[in-house]
Parts: sequence; structure tokens; C-alpha cells
Amino acid sequence: MPSDPLIRLEHVDKTYRIAETPTAVLRDVSLEIGAGEFVALQGPSGSGKSTLLHIIGLLDRPTAGRYLLRGRDVSGLSDDELSGLRNQSIGFVFQSFYLIPYATALDNVLLPGLYSPAPQHQLRQRAEHLLAQVGLADRMRHKPSQLSGGQQQRVALARAMLNDPDLILADEPTGQLDSKTSAEIMSLFAEVNANGKTIIVVTHDEETASHAKRRVLVQDGTIA
Ligand code: ADP
Ligand code: MG
Repeated sequence: MPSDPLIRLEHVDKTYRIAETPTAVLRDVSLEIGAGEFVALQGPSGSGKSTLLHIIGLLDRPTAGRYLLRGRDVSGLSDDELSGLRNQSIGFVFQSFYLIPYATALDNVLLPGLYSPAPQHQLRQRAEHLLAQVGLADRMRHKPSQLSGGQQQRVALARAMLNDPDLILADEPTGQLDSKTSAEIMSLFAEVNANGKTIIVVTHDEETASHAKRRVLVQDGTIA
């Protein structure tokens, strides 16, 4: 029997109520993503990409339809259960990096370890290893303001990997970077994918999407 896909969305709708008027942002989205894939969710601004990524990342819930993560329907889980599952199995990377400005690169990477049962010295070793892996072995004590945009995004990627998640979700990760730096960051995502992580990148940018192994087009709340 074939195993369950990592992600399975079945007829997902998302509707926001704005001044009493329901507005459909996602309509009948069905999508499967297998473990080990590197997928770009590509589409114009306002098409619903971030909304879709937030649902996949357990940051938001569908209005209708089902979401199965590793074959498990997550709709019945409480908010606490969802955040537990999220901490342990999903890493996030955002357009604006969201690093803590007064903390060093190393301390930023250690942040998701706050609730980890792993001993502190082990987490620290892992954070150092991850920073080396993203090419920042000599920048661990730098603060975000002492790093370039590309370096800050590398820190954010290392942070996303601290708890060793199966799945890494990135929302417009190259949105603040020049084209050369964007290509470097996307190559790094490809490397992380080659090491076994499932990666989903949201982007409106053709060049960024071209680095993924599979593209899913999002248009006006639906997928092609
Ligand atoms: P994208 O990431 O593709 O630019 P989004 O998923 O952010 O698109 O948004 C899709 C649509 O949903 C937009 O029209 C946006 O205004 C609307 N939208 C997103 N979040 C909310 C919200 N919390 N409340 C109301 N409308 C929202
Ligand atoms: Mg968006």
C-alpha cells in the first residue's frame, strides 16, 4: 500500500468575512505534496499564496475542506496541539527575516530551541553546525544589523532547521534580495532539499520559482 503523502489538502476553502461580506480567498484547493519534494507556489500578488502557506504551516485553518498532515486530519486538533506539531515538524522563513535585532546570529538560531527538551549544549552545537552549513561559520557573533540581507536570510534558514523539521516553508524568501543574492539563497534551499527536507517556497517571482523541482500555479484563490 502506498504511504500517505506528507501534505494532502482536500477541497480547501478559505473565506474571510469583511464588513459582513464573505470574501473567498481560497476556493476548492486540492493538493498533494510528498516527502522530499521542493515545490514553488507561484502566482501574482493577492492570489492567495500566503493564505495557502499559512494553512499548510498550521498557522491558520481552512473554512471548509480537509488538511491531512502525514495522513492525519489536523482539523480536530486544538490550538495547543497545532502549535506543538508546528514547533516540532515545521520551520518557517519569511521575506523580512524576522530576526531579533539585539541578539547574535547564534542566539537567533537558538530561539526555536526554547521549548526543546534537548540539552542546551547540544542545541548550541547544532546551531553552530547549521550556521556553518549556511556559510556563516565566521559570523556567529554578529548581530543582524552587521549582516547583509542575504546573510540575514541564511541565519533565518538555519533557525528554521534548529528543531530538525521535516518541512520548511518560505514566504517570498527572496523578496528583499537582489537577483544574485536571491539565486544564492535558492541554491541553499536546493542543498537543504537534497539533504532530505521537504521545501515549499511561495513566490511571485519567475526566477525564484525556477529553482524548485515542481511548480504549482496559484491564481485568484485556485490552483491550476
Ligand atoms: P498573496 O500571498 O498571494 O499575495 P494573500 O494570501 O496574502 O495573497 O491574500 C489573498 C487575498 O486575501 C488578498 O485579497 C488579501 O487581501 C486577502 N486577505 C488575506 N488575509 C486576509 C485577512 N486576514 N482578512 C481579510 N482578507 C485577507
Ligand atoms: Mg503573500
